[in-house]
Amino acid sequence: MTIPDSHQPGVRTTGPSLFPRYFHQHGLRMRVFLSQLPLSIGIACAILIAAVANPKALGDPFVMTGILTQILLLAATLAVPWHRLTFGLFLIIPVFDFLSLAVIRLSGSDTLNGVAALTLFPVFWLAASGLSRRIALPAIVLGSLMVVWSPLVFDGNTLTTAQLLRPLLLPVIFLGLGVAASTLVASMEKQQMALKEKDRQLVETLGLSQKREQLLNAIMNTVNVGLVAVDADGNDILMNRKQRDFHRLALPPDARDAAEEQLLVFESDQTTPIPPAERPVRRAINGDYVSETLMWLGNGSNRRAVSSTSRAIKDTDGTVTGSVVAFYDVTEVMLALQAKDDFVSNVSHELRTPLTSILGYLSLALEESTQLPKHLAAYLQVAERNGERLLNLVSDLLATATPAVGLHRQLADLSELVELSVDSASPRATANNVVLLNQSTTPAMAVFDVGRIGQVVDNLVSNAIKYSPDGGVVTVTTFSTDSEVGCRVADTGLGMEAADVERLFTKFFRAKSATDRAIPGVGLGLRISKGIVDSHGGTIEVQSSPGQGSVFTVRLPVDPDADTSLPAEP
Ligand code: ADP
Repeated sequence: MTIPDSHQPGVRTTGPSLFPRYFHQHGLRMRVFLSQLPLSIGIACAILIAAVANPKALGDPFVMTGILTQILLLAATLAVPWHRLTFGLFLIIPVFDFLSLAVIRLSGSDTLNGVAALTLFPVFWLAASGLSRRIALPAIVLGSLMVVWSPLVFDGNTLTTAQLLRPLLLPVIFLGLGVAASTLVASMEKQQMALKEKDRQLVETLGLSQKREQLLNAIMNTVNVGLVAVDADGNDILMNRKQRDFHRLALPPDARDAAEEQLLVFESDQTTPIPPAERPVRRAINGDYVSETLMWLGNGSNRRAVSSTSRAIKDTDGTVTGSVVAFYDVTEVMLALQAKDDFVSNVSHELRTPLTSILGYLSLALEESTQLPKHLAAYLQVAERNGERLLNLVSDLLATATPAVGLHRQLADLSELVELSVDSASPRATANNVVLLNQSTTPAMAVFDVGRIGQVVDNLVSNAIKYSPDGGVVTVTTFSTDSEVGCRVADTGLGMEAADVERLFTKFFRAKSATDRAIPGVGLGLRISKGIVDSHGGTIEVQSSPGQGSVFTVRLPVDPDADTSLPAEP
């Protein structure tokens, strides 16, 4: 049997116990003792049998020497501190076993002849000891030959070949068994080595993944962003400290925990609660990933504005296994935006009153222009024109900075509105070398705020002319179906890049084509137009390509639903 070294790394032992369950769990001394024990028991049995069958045989000096050697060998297994000696030195014991068996057989007693079979034990020990086969197998052959030939060699008679050959079967069998045992042990050792290597790799991988986890935790708790990861069933698998802070913020006052539907989560207007199914984490679980969605958490002075973004977690074959949602605190940005809007609104308001007065007096002065020198009248007209431009700008700024204004809806003809708009834009078109065509032929009746929609059509027509600086054709058409009416303004002017079209309705946005050509403007008209169209439950679409021109299409429902106010500022 093999005696592996349990002190080598990777060999696992169960905790200390009085008598360990497995052979390899014993100390080296006990393992040597246990390896010798079967032979000692075998010899004890042989002696017992001899004591009954032929007591005289036990008096033989060879038998007595053999028995004494066996006792000494068994005692040596326990007495010698094998672990302090060179590893493998204990194999001296099976070698001495061969000797002691040979000595017992020297007695020539028929009763003790069978002890030759006990040679099997030292044979096994040597074969399974892990000793190199080149040493173990010759030792087995020599040892077993010594056991079977000893009575023949020392009986004083001349040896014949036949005598020597007769007992040879036993050493051959032992050799075969030794080969089989050593092969088995060698393969087991290989397996053990492979297992140890796997064990080592596993420990290494575990260490690596623990390090990664520590790193991830450190990063998660350092970043000032709330992070939550959920699996495909919606269970939380990871949540960082910041996210727990956000969660606490959304708890109702004095509550230590609350169900999802009780959490204080509001839309950007800070008052409309967001239903649980529409909150970012729930949406991410349902596969609807959000980007920069704004919401407010909590109540009163502690409330915070939070922007969230979510992404899917996918495994190697692309299957979605969960989602990660990130929450950023954007309260300061929102407050700064609010302060900016307040400032714009206040300044615009303050500017409008004196401007209106200036324009009033200019108009009074111009009423008497016949009495003024010609050049003074021309100066006043320039001042009036610019004053009006300034007033329009101030009105636009006010419209974007102030909240909802009521709509005055009535049944009206969109085609008529378009005609008015085209008529008043005609002089500008002529001045810009633009051919302005109105192709609306049939009435387009619907319920809408004439003033507000007129503002939209004016803005689209004036843009179409303004952004055709090299001249061209602007065509305005209206259309109507049972459910909607609409107006299309197409030009052959500058056009825009697709990326610019995407941002067209953002406050103060101006396309590159406009800024490159230094065409004056502030980027508010379309923003206001979209707000007006949205409040009517309609849509506004744009198709444009650089150098080819643009087409703006407005659609309005014929019979709009109840929504009667402009939407709140986004
Ligand atoms: P403004 O004209 O004062 O800049 P708008 O909100 O009306 O503001 O338009 C925003 C931007 O959209 C413009 O600056 C311009 O770049 C682009 N734009 C609008 N209409 C057209 C058009 N018909 N052709 C090309 N670009 C346009």
